This record gives sequence, C-alpha cells and structure tokens, in this order.
Amino acid sequence: MSDFRPVSPRVVPRFAGVSTFLRLPLHAGPDDVDCLIVGAPFDGGTSFRPGARFGPRGVREASALTRGYHPDPGVDLFAHLRCADGGDVLCVPMDLPRTLDHLAARAHEIAAAGAVTAFVGGDHTCTLGVLRGIARVHGPLGLVHFDAHSDTYGPAWGCDPHHGTVFRNAVEEGLLRPRDVIQIGLRGPYSTADDLAFARDAGFALVSAEEVHRDLDGVLARIRAMPATGPYYLSFDVDAVDPSMAPGTGTPVPGGIFSWQALALVRATRHLPVVGCDVMEVSPGLDLNGITSLLAANVLAESLAAIAARRASATPSPR
Ligand code: MN
Ligand code: MN
Repeated sequence: MSDFRPVSPRVVPRFAGVSTFLRLPLHAGPDDVDCLIVGAPFDGGTSFRPGARFGPRGVREASALTRGYHPDPGVDLFAHLRCADGGDVLCVPMDLPRTLDHLAARAHEIAAAGAVTAFVGGDHTCTLGVLRGIARVHGPLGLVHFDAHSDTYGPAWGCDPHHGTVFRNAVEEGLLRPRDVIQIGLRGPYSTADDLAFARDAGFALVSAEEVHRDLDGVLARIRAMPATGPYYLSFDVDAVDPSMAPGTGTPVPGGIFSWQALALVRATRHLPVVGCDVMEVSPGLDLNGITSLLAANVLAESLAAIAARRASATPSPR
C-alpha cells in the first residue's frame, strides 16, 4: 500500500523514473486518497493556437521540481492531503461532447468518493466537464478564476461551448453561485465594449491584471473576504500570467500578473472550502525552457497546499 506521498528524492533522484504529477504514485483511485490529480489532454475547444493537449505531459515532467513543504502557510501538504496521480481522462481529439462527458464522469467519481479533484489541462473547455461532474455531488460552486479572459463569451463559428464560453455555460447550467465568483487577471483589448457584460450582469467580481499590480494587498483582501459558506472551485488559466513568464499557452495577452503574485493570490484562498482545482491552457510546444509548465506545476502544488492548510487548521495533528 502506498503512502500517497512523492517518492523521496533521496531514494530516487528527481530526474529519474517515469514522470507523474508531483512525483506521486500512479493510482486509479479515488478510494484511499484525499485528492486525485488527473490529466485532461484535450485542446479541441481551442480558438487560436492548439497544443494544450500536451499540457499534462509537460506539467508532469516539470513537477519533478516541486516540493511538499510550503513555508507560507507552514504546512507539509502531503501530511494533510493524501495525493496520487490518477492518470489521464480519455479525451477524444475530435469529439468535444464525448470528451466533456468523460471528464464529468471522472470528476463525479472522485467527488462522490469524498476526494478533491485536481485537473491539469488541456484547454479551458475541459473545466466545464469537470464542473458538471463536481456540481452533481456538491451543488453549485463558488469560483476563484485566474485568467486573462473572462471565458463568458458567445459561440464561435456556431460552436458552443469552446474554451472562451465555459463560465457562461456553467452559469446557464446552474453549476456556479455567480455572487461567489471572482475573476482575476482580466485584461484587454476586447473584441467589443460588451465582452464583460455577461460576467458583470451575473454578479461576478472582476479584477484586472493592472489592479493586481497596483494594489495586490487590496486584491488579497478581497479574496480573503469571500464567504466560506459553500464549496468552491479554483480554476487557473496559465494565460493569467504575463507572457514573459508564461509564454507556453495558446492565447497569450501582454500585461499579465506576475508569477509571484499568482502564487500569493492562490495562497489567499486557504480559508475557502475548495473541493476542486485545475491548471489549464499549458501548451508545452509553445513554451520556452519549460518555464510555463514549471509555473503550472507550482500553481498546482500551491493550490493543494492551500487546501491542505485549511485541513491542517481544522485538525491540529497530521494523520
Ligand atoms: Mn485565457
Ligand atoms: Mn481560460
């Protein structure tokens, strides 16, 4: 029986072995674990440069450099969260509806077992499938969403959903609590003056990348003030971060938040009952030296550390 921690680098060097998320054991689960990390190798909802189907592989490899102890908030995440790499969901390159069904089924299976879902994409359309699966267990979710884009836009070429529609779809399907949604890292230029109208009308809190740069403490305070009254989902589109730090993505937008700000903002969610998280839109073929995959791996670890910190504060002694 595995202890569901990363293999010790004193036993197996970080650069050796078959790549898994955070060097965790492969385990189909979701029994026996608190969190299952699953790949969503799909980019069939992409509107511009494809390649995010290779995101899970890139993040697995880059995550060899992540570590378990996070000094802020001061937890060994694996002491409070038994984690495993659950493998990849079968994503069908030319069949978006079937792919979303598979993602929803996997997310539902994990959530129904009482475990946290962590998905690594894959384009952002994948999140819609995941939300469908989780909401069947937990009901409508609050959302902390990092992205250059609101992803509440209309159909493209007659296709709905695609990776720019998912949070509109999620609201329309009753998967979210719109008043408990915050979108961080947004920036223009936009296609029209109305691009954010849906998000505003739904009641989302909208935070631009510029606001993060000008008043990070204020944005951190806004996150910490979000009510922990229902289950939350954390979704991180890596294009929230500036292309100078995250070039490996399909739809980069200049003027993004910085990597340290992203990690600090993720940390600020630790009071929220997060039942699932993801990191999406990593496209290794567009990356430089793997820096985007490395950032995504660290965002994943930081998200899990925030969840672990909440559990640590609820249960003083680790299991
Ligand atoms: Mn985006
Ligand atoms: Mn997105």
